[in-house]
Amino acid sequence: MPRPLIARIHAAALAHNLGVARAAAPGSRVLAVIKANGYGHGLLRTARALRAADGFAVVSLEEAACLRAQGYTHPIVLLEGFFSPDELSEIARLRLRPVLHRLDQVDILARTRSGQRLDVLLKVDTGMHRLGIPPGRVADALSRLTDLPQVAGITLMSHFACADDPAVGVAGQLAVFRRALPAPPVPTPVADPAQANSPWPVSLANSAALLRYPETHADWVRPGILLYGASPFPDQDGAALGLLPAMHLESRLIAVQTVRRGEGLGYGFAYRAEQDMRVGIVACGYPDGYPRHAPTGTPVRVAGQTTRLLGRVSMDMLCVDLSPVRGAQVGSPVTLWGDGLPVERVAAAAGTLAYELLTAIAPRVRMEEA
Ligand SMILES: *Cc1c(COP(=O)(O)O)cnc(C)c1O
Repeated sequence: MPRPLIARIHAAALAHNLGVARAAAPGSRVLAVIKANGYGHGLLRTARALRAADGFAVVSLEEAACLRAQGYTHPIVLLEGFFSPDELSEIARLRLRPVLHRLDQVDILARTRSGQRLDVLLKVDTGMHRLGIPPGRVADALSRLTDLPQVAGITLMSHFACADDPAVGVAGQLAVFRRALPAPPVPTPVADPAQANSPWPVSLANSAALLRYPETHADWVRPGILLYGASPFPDQDGAALGLLPAMHLESRLIAVQTVRRGEGLGYGFAYRAEQDMRVGIVACGYPDGYPRHAPTGTPVRVAGQTTRLLGRVSMDMLCVDLSPVRGAQVGSPVTLWGDGLPVERVAAAAGTLAYELLTAIAPRVRMEEA
């Protein structure tokens, strides 16, 4: 028998979650964000499950080329555009849509002679100060791009820093975006956002904005995390939003120990038994992508019961409290996250986010589609 650790990917959950995005933003096209190996779920597996999306967003040319090689004809957006000018011929050949986020990239584009016209996205920095051109330069950049023979279509985009935090929200960045436009402002909360009065299509919303701020929907929404069934919000898990977890990280008990009151457990004796107890040893460790910093008390499910992690996570194993789990024995099934245990809860206990846990799943973990 192989090592029992396995990440089961539910294609039907991915498709369901895409439906949740569509229902929440019925007037928008959905650009499914499948960067970082489909948030750890496998690039091609994720693309197949989400093929009903209107487009895909990735970060590298390699990811995009892989999708084209498999025959996907969807619009594919490169979220960080091109890293060097020599990528432009391949970008044109594969009909990819690069994000232009610096003004000098407009100059670089103006100098290329591929003969192909590109669809591009112009990214506006509305306050996050990560990628994007300053709002005051948008009108100028748009007029230059419009005149370039290298450019077919232009989509305007921006990204929200705090759509998951109601104390900040999106209003400030949305106002900056609207002011940056040379034409009448977009997006407006109109019945059909495609009718919004911008001469250019607009894309603003990540998962959090898509779910909480309809005024951000515009022409293209860009959900990532919600497609995988995890919530972008700290105060609500995916199930509360109607989402289904796409990744189920499962393993088994490979040993059961009896530890006496006062005895130590694992490296550093970081946990000491408060009473005589049964402890389960699970085949899953930090090189698998389980967070090493998860403390005692992090939830783990054993044989359908929620219990807790004990002591330090080791390289290939972790320890769990079997006191509340009746009948647990070697071979009992363990869920690290997935069914009955949202990855968000594990992440919160470990002081991180579902994004990090999902994308950190290691290549040594067998992955199967369910
Ligand atoms: C990753 C990313 C998204 C998706 O964000 P989620 O919070 O996962 O929905 C959207 N837009 C851009 C520019 C991104 O980099």
